[in-house]
Amino acid sequence: MGWKADQVVDTDVLIIGSGGTGLRAAIEARRYGVKVIVIDKGVIGMNSNTRYSGGGLKAALPGILETRYTTIYSTPEEHFQAALLHGEYLNDQELIETLTLEAPARVLELQEFGVTTFRAMYYHVQYPHGTGLVAPQMAYAKKLGCSLRPGIVPTQLIMEGDRVAGCLGFNTHTDRPVLMRAKAVILATGGAGEIYERNDTTATTTGDGYSLAFQAGLQLRDMEIVQFEPYVQAEPGLPMLDRHECEAEFFGILRNKDGEEFLKKYMPPRQEAVDSFEKQFGMPLTDIRERVARAMVSEVHAGRGDNGAVLFDLTHVPAEVWDADIASQYTKAVLMRNGFDPTKKPIHVLPGAICNLGGVVINAHCETAIAGLYAAGEVAGGVHGAARLGGDALVETIVYGARAGKHAALYAMQAQAPRTGGAQLEDSKREWQEVLGRPAEGSCAADAIKKKIKKLMWDKVGPLRDGAGLRLANDELARLAEHDAPRMYAPTVRRLREVYEARSMLLTARLVVASALARTESRGAHYRLDYPFRDDRNWLRNIFVHGNEREIVTTTRPIRLLRHKPSPVSKFGLEVRA
Ligand SMILES: Cc1cc2nc3c(=O)[nH]c(=O)nc-3n(C[C@H](O)[C@H](O)[C@H](O)COP(=O)(O)OP(=O)(O)OC[C@H]3O[C@@H](n4cnc5c(N)ncnc54)[C@H](O)[C@@H]3O)c2cc1C
Repeated sequence: MGWKADQVVDTDVLIIGSGGTGLRAAIEARRYGVKVIVIDKGVIGMNSNTRYSGGGLKAALPGILETRYTTIYSTPEEHFQAALLHGEYLNDQELIETLTLEAPARVLELQEFGVTTFRAMYYHVQYPHGTGLVAPQMAYAKKLGCSLRPGIVPTQLIMEGDRVAGCLGFNTHTDRPVLMRAKAVILATGGAGEIYERNDTTATTTGDGYSLAFQAGLQLRDMEIVQFEPYVQAEPGLPMLDRHECEAEFFGILRNKDGEEFLKKYMPPRQEAVDSFEKQFGMPLTDIRERVARAMVSEVHAGRGDNGAVLFDLTHVPAEVWDADIASQYTKAVLMRNGFDPTKKPIHVLPGAICNLGGVVINAHCETAIAGLYAAGEVAGGVHGAARLGGDALVETIVYGARAGKHAALYAMQAQAPRTGGAQLEDSKREWQEVLGRPAEGSCAADAIKKKIKKLMWDKVGPLRDGAGLRLANDELARLAEHDAPRMYAPTVRRLREVYEARSMLLTARLVVASALARTESRGAHYRLDYPFRDDRNWLRNIFVHGNEREIVTTTRPIRLLRHKPSPVSKFGLEVRA
């Protein structure tokens, strides 16, 4: 196939990814008067996890953020301490302190952009909830003069000396090779839920930002920490959907194949009477979900699962609760339309990946180790530590989105316009052409490689891990990288995107496995059956990865303490060896 004419674009700030982080960064950068372009490999805003999120924001705004979805703390200090306790101290304390201090103002400011749904988000908004955050920010960014460009797949960051100079890629809507030269670049590409067979993330979460950053020579941190959402549908014949953000489900009971309410074995309830999850266990589900997910998978692992899953019993939920909110009505209607009546029989559920908590190393200005290159949102690491409180990821998009936008704009205002890239674009075109020209026969399909990665990661690197499984995953991923990935083919430019996604997934999966192998303890969302305890003597350390596709190097550094010393009690019920 033939390429159309090259497109060369110059800008001050280039933002890769148009989820909550990318849009908030665009708004902030534009406030400084610089030229801002946001690109997305999908449709602007629409393919993001922010859009499909539950819309829950955590910030110390009692009386304003009313929600039963997550705990709202009275002060930033309470929020900060809760996030550290939950993150089991792997959080960068400066990043989480900044988040909790700035969250209230950033949430209130959303009104200026036309976001009206953050008050009682849970009860009154359209579905999916996150649309209430994305659509107004998209419109506001456009109104300010940001250019929003869909369908562009960046394959490589380009450098000029030791600073970033933009990216190369192709446009799947126009079949044009693209060179985007920028004084500053912000990575806002979100996470990598897609590396797991079971996930409730959008199909665009293929770890592209981790891969772009790693290949540019940056370090990533805490990549072993992957959060799994408990109530992801596993009903044969029904789609895999996250079912958590709905009033009716607060009253659901998890049962194993024998009908036993097994959660009580893993998490002693505060009171026996069955009421909502919050009343029973003393906190909303979203503030303890890593422990619930582990309990569910442990039941299946112990042979007490039903069809490889557990049962979520909603049969006792009164009709008025099903009618109480839009999400419950929607959930029930979708199930009924698919021929499943949740008021009559329990539904199969099993966890799925929802969020990557590690990522690119940044400071509180969202600067990376490369001049002019910034990262924020789920692609960046350090805010959440080993586990994430409900609402902290969306608030991260607005706090750190704004910070990345501001500092990228300030950098761009004093930087020279880059002039590089033409020769690299020619090299890339040759490489893309080689993939496009390969015959299907004897080559590897990107889709088949993606499937292998997903299955392997779910089977061996899910909520329960051990050394043998991790080593097996490590070897098989290395084999795929060496033998299969270089032989991928694509019949069209649109399908070429899948090839780059499969490469990103493969690299991201290898970073997760290398880090999970290194962490010989359990902490937060990372649970090792062969090291079922939190080892504060040896592992109050963060794990960093760097290198290249042939050699992934892991190093560790002691956690950075500001003023908060680790408590020797684990919120996740782990034995702590202090
Ligand atoms: C079902 C679900 C419910 C959730 N609910 C909540 C909640 O209620 N509260 C909370 O705090 N958190 C929640 N989370 C987590 C939270 O939504 C995400 O962590 C957050 O939205 C990430 O925002 P982001 O902007 O960093 O990434 P995203 O919103 O995922 O946006 C990333 C964007 O980058 C684009 N992109 C990716 N790769 C490329 C590339 N190579 N080139 C160009 N563009 C690219 C994608 O298409 C996408 O548009 C939820 C997550 C899920 C999956």
